[in-house]
Amino acid sequence: MAGRAVIELDKVKMLYESKVARREAVLALEDASFDVREGEFVALVGPSGCGKSTILKLVSGLMPPTGGTVRVNGHEVRGPQPDLGIVFQMPVLMEWRRVIDNILLPIEVLEYNDIDYKNRAQDLVDLVGLRGFEDRYPFELSGGMQQRVSICRSLIHDPPGLIMDEPFSALDEMTRDHMNVELQRIWLERRKTVLYITHSISESVFLADRVAVMSPRPGRILKVVDIPFPRPRSLRVRATQEFVEKVENIREMLGLNEDPGEAEV
Ligand code: ADP
Ligand code: MG
Repeated sequence: MAGRAVIELDKVKMLYESKVARREAVLALEDASFDVREGEFVALVGPSGCGKSTILKLVSGLMPPTGGTVRVNGHEVRGPQPDLGIVFQMPVLMEWRRVIDNILLPIEVLEYNDIDYKNRAQDLVDLVGLRGFEDRYPFELSGGMQQRVSICRSLIHDPPGLIMDEPFSALDEMTRDHMNVELQRIWLERRKTVLYITHSISESVFLADRVAVMSPRPGRILKVVDIPFPRPRSLRVRATQEFVEKVENIREMLGLNEDPGEAEV
């Protein structure tokens, strides 16, 4: 496979020790290995509680793993990663800052020169279709618009990589479809290396070059599935036989296609 590895997990284990007396420790990840190569869009899909957000926390340097190694650009992760923009599941915007000032937050935190970045912020606002809303406050925006603001914020310092944790899961289906198309467009324009976390199999197949399928907790990577559909992909690709087969294939891996009676529904 072409390209150097940007994000690498090698036999990663994460045991959460309980901070509460007599409560058991939780083994979130066990022997989790996969990588994301430069310019690639990789989706990580798995059932709720299988350790997806744990992987985001490890890759972005919010905590160290209990075992194994996590590397970004060939270096073991030991702290925050300015090379990676992070989009959390919730937009986490600052309510008292206008849209434009929320987008510029990383520039202040990283202490980059503010002047050069105002134009960039405006370009990003245009890119995600928020022109005219720069001076609004978060409460004046819909959920989908807030999430677009958080995407702009993750891109403002032009990080070569992006990690997104179920960024559209709180949105209604129509807005979510629209955001998926939008995200593909941004990715095609900017060619970031993306790790996209989701519990939606269909979303993972629509967006990714490769889908890493996770087992239930303790999370491991069961298989990495290639998604060869040409880009740009239209939402209509989801109705094609090839697409449906990919989705079914992943559902099988996750044991979701068992007959009723054999498994709990
Ligand atoms: P996912 O994002 O796939 O839904 P998480 O990575 O959030 O899963 O969580 C994986 C498992 O680890 C869950 O069982 C969760 O309860 C547990 N977990 C997550 N964070 C903590 C924590 N800080 N302390 C203890 N257990 C945790
Ligand atoms: Mg999660």
